[in-house]
Amino acid sequence: MTQVTIETAEKILATTYSRMPVVFEKGQGATLWDTAGKAYTDFLAGIAVCGLGHAHPAVQAALAEQAGKLLHVSNLFYTRPQVALGQWLIRHSFADRVFFCNSGAEANEAAIKLARKYFSDQGAQDRYRIIAMEQSFHGRTMGSLSATGQAKIRKGFEPVLEGFDFVPFNDAEALAARVDDSVCAVMLEPIQGEGGIVCPDPGYLAAVRRLCDERGALMILDEVQTGMGRTGKLFAHEHEGVTPDIMTLAKSLGNGLPIGAMLAREAAAGAFGPGAHATTFGGTPIITAGALAVVQTIEGEDLVARAARIGAYFLERLQELKGRHARIEAVRGRGLLLGLKLKEEGAPIVNACLERGFVINCVQGDILRFAPPLIISTREIDALIDCLDAILSTEV
Ligand SMILES: *Cc1c(COP(=O)(O)O)cnc(C)c1O
Repeated sequence: MTQVTIETAEKILATTYSRMPVVFEKGQGATLWDTAGKAYTDFLAGIAVCGLGHAHPAVQAALAEQAGKLLHVSNLFYTRPQVALGQWLIRHSFADRVFFCNSGAEANEAAIKLARKYFSDQGAQDRYRIIAMEQSFHGRTMGSLSATGQAKIRKGFEPVLEGFDFVPFNDAEALAARVDDSVCAVMLEPIQGEGGIVCPDPGYLAAVRRLCDERGALMILDEVQTGMGRTGKLFAHEHEGVTPDIMTLAKSLGNGLPIGAMLAREAAAGAFGPGAHATTFGGTPIITAGALAVVQTIEGEDLVARAARIGAYFLERLQELKGRHARIEAVRGRGLLLGLKLKEEGAPIVNACLERGFVINCVQGDILRFAPPLIISTREIDALIDCLDAILSTEV
């Protein structure tokens, strides 16, 4: 059966992914089971998505209840779950308003459009350029791709949208040299996820904020991967004492439900009047009811503080591992978004981990990424460290 599923998938699905040879069937907490009944500990959580782990009862209950009432009515009307989720996000962030959509890329599209509209509304139609970062990742739609500073991701799709320039991450001087009055926004991730778990140097985000203020540009933070407690704060920018004008969320906001959100301060948000932007499914009741259960659980179970605590333990264990293995070049990250930069290709180690029942992945070819559910235990972390220790001592 498993083999048939894989063979059929390879025949009929778009060939955009090289998938690992496993068919997952169910999950519970941080454990996944494949169709053969083999268990895996999930240190990827669907790429920083399933913060609560799998099959969380609060999410199940909220979805079941809402599914029996109302799935969808469109944004021509009000629904309670959308408003309640919006309120929660506003209460816990710098923002005054939220636009719901269906993915990270769409949230970034909304942010890009809002930044341009904000200046266009003031008669500054020429102020449309966006400065983004080299090695950034903002999504695969043409707009978010245009803000993505990785040649390998843009290749074959050029020309991308006009008006995007790139500077190196963590280089405030390079940024200062580019932000003039043609620039509507600076757009960046508070920690570059796909770019290799690259953290900001102390003071860097504050310098970006200052520069945006001085030059009148908006600051857009893409917290799609870092948001909702992953880094040990609800939003990663809180580590830096900096607030953006616009923030995008997606991945762990829905714990696997397709949802994105763009949050903004009133001054910027006002540029989206009726008809300016829209989406059929964004904020639909079934998804926002589920996401509301997600955020309430994150709050109720104090999972942000837990991510900080367990993440510090995990980081320490990875540093010990680095001390024992010269094949490791560096340990990176914050909270439960951690990376291990290797002096070799990461794929064979990812495969060896899978073989031994651990799901991890690799970014940029040589950086192992760990983004487990926020409910991961120290025992599960210890088991992964033992597994990596054994692999790095003997294999590949
Ligand atoms: C995953 C990701 C996106 C894209 O999100 P999708 O839901 O896949 O469109 C955008 N920005 C960052 C930082 C991401 O990690």
